[in-house]
Amino acid sequence: LAKQSAPNGLRFYDPAVQAELEARTEMERDLRVAIERQEFVLVYQTQVDSTGRAIGAEALIRWQHPQQGFVSPGTFIPLAEETGLIVPIGQWVLEAACEQLVAWADDDSTAHLTLAVNVSAKQFQQPDFVDSVRCVLARTGALPQRLKLEITESTVIGNVDDTIARMHQLKALGISFAIDDFGTGYSSLQYLKRLPLDQIKIDQSFVRDLHKDADDMAIVQTIIAMGQALGLNVIAEGVETQEHWRHLNDRQCHAYQGYYFSKPASAVEMVKRSLAPPPMLN
Ligand code: C2E
Ligand code: MG
Ligand code: MG
Ligand code: MG
Repeated sequence: LAKQSAPNGLRFYDPAVQAELEARTEMERDLRVAIERQEFVLVYQTQVDSTGRAIGAEALIRWQHPQQGFVSPGTFIPLAEETGLIVPIGQWVLEAACEQLVAWADDDSTAHLTLAVNVSAKQFQQPDFVDSVRCVLARTGALPQRLKLEITESTVIGNVDDTIARMHQLKALGISFAIDDFGTGYSSLQYLKRLPLDQIKIDQSFVRDLHKDADDMAIVQTIIAMGQALGLNVIAEGVETQEHWRHLNDRQCHAYQGYYFSKPASAVEMVKRSLAPPPMLN
């Protein structure tokens, strides 16, 4: 929208806005090509239990752009969501994740690992989403009991009943659900009460300073207590230091994810690290 409305109703030309618009158009075009040429890869970040042992991973998408190199999901996922390209991209992610689960199932040392997959609102709301998940499971042979879908509040907003119905259909297949970035939305508690969730992911913005900010600590402690009272598993994201881990562990958080345990890595690398002895709390 290069021509913005001025308060007096006149329209003016803004070169900065124009440049941004062109960059977006170009990225949208590149994204379409990327889907065709399969320029995406998944990396995996370990999730650990209270003893530090790997119990699973989260799959995170990466785009290897032929000219620009690595493009972060923070840049292209929002555009993919706006343009609807998230639907084919999300479908690819689901397939690749299920194939990874099948590969893990083949080996005793990895067969127990679960895999969490991020699902965007627009993808989840596709009329055939449940069917497409069913098809991917059937085609790949992945165990639904090892698959976890991460949704956010944006999926739920304005679609509460439909979201709940779909979640039940998917749960009937054996899939579990986490609510991602918990605490950053507007009406999280409403949803907590109504959605058939299995896990809450405490957003990393509350974890970052919890060792020095009493308010963050209070929020984290309350989320953990609430999760426990509601019978939900609670995982903290963005655990970067042993201090973070110790504070969360003292409050009986169930699971952890963050750079302290492992950065997102290739599947091979992730498994190699997860077989190493867990870090000790001292
Ligand atoms: P998210 O699902 O909340 O994923 C967590 C993000 O935090 C990841 O960023 C991860 O690399 C980063 N992270 C993990 N541990 C730490 C830590 O200790 N400290 C800090 N500062 N950051 C940490 P990433 O991979 O850049 O992904 C960003 C967001 O992009 C994700 O947030 C998710 O919303 C979205 N995303 C990633 N992959 C997919 C995907 O396959 N599908 C969809 N729909 N969205 C995705
Ligand atoms: Mg996530
Ligand atoms: Mg998150
Ligand atoms: Mg996030």
